[in-house]
Amino acid sequence: IVQLRGVTKKFGETVVFSDVDLEVGVSEVVVLIGPSGAGKSTLLRCVNGLEEITSGEIVVAGQTLSYDQKHLNRIRSRIGMVFQSFNLFPHMSVTENIAVAQRDVLGRGKDEAIQKAHSLLERVGLSHKADAYPGSLSGGQQQRVAIARALAMDPAVMLFDEPTSALDPELVGEVLAVMKDLAEEGMTMMCVTHEMRFARRVADRVVLIADHGIAEQGPPDQVLDHPVTERAQHFLSELS
Ligand code: ATP
Ligand code: MG
Repeated sequence: IVQLRGVTKKFGETVVFSDVDLEVGVSEVVVLIGPSGAGKSTLLRCVNGLEEITSGEIVVAGQTLSYDQKHLNRIRSRIGMVFQSFNLFPHMSVTENIAVAQRDVLGRGKDEAIQKAHSLLERVGLSHKADAYPGSLSGGQQQRVAIARALAMDPAVMLFDEPTSALDPELVGEVLAVMKDLAEEGMTMMCVTHEMRFARRVADRVVLIADHGIAEQGPPDQVLDHPVTERAQHFLSELS
């Protein structure tokens, strides 16, 4: 459902990655790992058009990314993205946070948007916080609201960029549990994370981004326990 074909991304003369081919199937969970600065965030940002690629092609849900605003808005509405920081609107209640884009982007009616918000809050275990404001929630709760907000758009794919790395350790589990549920329900996901236990349990495929491209990829037990490339062996040995 997501295809990158020969994708190169440069910032000026600096090549972040070049000639990357990557295909993510429906309901597949791909975890991206790799050293800091390797281009993991940039790759996700390219997939939802936040960054323009230098060459190659990206196709999401059958549509080739182009950068005219109208097309970009349409395709972005099919892609949910959750960042390290939660980015909720502080002056809106939790329910309003989840309802607003449904109304503005998808044109849903108020009742429908609120109903959807409530059912998503139930799904992320936050029904009791429907009327709370983001500032009164823990980081883990805010991140679960951010996930619910992204899901409200009925995305074809969810992109996660280190969704737990800003959280206190005791709050990481509740966010990973929501992500695991989503994966089990068949959501297509691309996740950048340092949570290797999550990668092992939830990923269908682990992709190591290093040295300007995909250095190694495969099932988690293969890549994490029996990496074949020196690059992957080196990266994983630095982790432990
Ligand atoms: P981390 O694990 O630290 O989050 P990352 O793998 O996500 O790292 P990116 O943030 O994608 O790495 O950055 C990849 C490279 O692109 C880095 O060298 C970074 O400095 C550079 N870069 C990222 N964004 C920009 C930008 N807007 N302008 C110029 N260079 C950028
Ligand atoms: Mg990053």
